[in-house]
Amino acid sequence: MDVATQSHLAALRDLLIYRLGELRADLHAAELAAADSRDRAPGLDDVHDMKDAATQRSDVELMSAQTRRDQDELALVEAALQRLDAGTYGDCAACGEPIALARLQAQPAAPRCAGCQAAFEKASRRA
Ligand SMILES: [Zn+2]
Repeated sequence: MDVATQSHLAALRDLLIYRLGELRADLHAAELAAADSRDRAPGLDDVHDMKDAATQRSDVELMSAQTRRDQDELALVEAALQRLDAGTYGDCAACGEPIALARLQAQPAAPRCAGCQAAFEKASRRA
């Protein structure tokens, strides 16, 4: 971690804790909404109009895609807080170089430097 990051650690921790709270609230709300729609919506077997069934399915898929993104980000935020406690926060998980402070301020949970993240995304798109 570089010296500039060290002097901003308290603010970065605040950002992470704030984001953690937001994500947990979002996921909780999504859980409630999912439970609610399960209670109210007729089962797909009861829907005879195929268009209705398709619409219903795509709503569910849309919601779970958002929920998956939230869960992924929550895992990143939790991991970043663990690195803060362990004193390894701010170092790239791939190359070990310090992550630029500006990048951490924009994305406090970023586990990799910009270069390694780009390479990681390229690799996971190929997979
Ligand atoms: Zn890196």
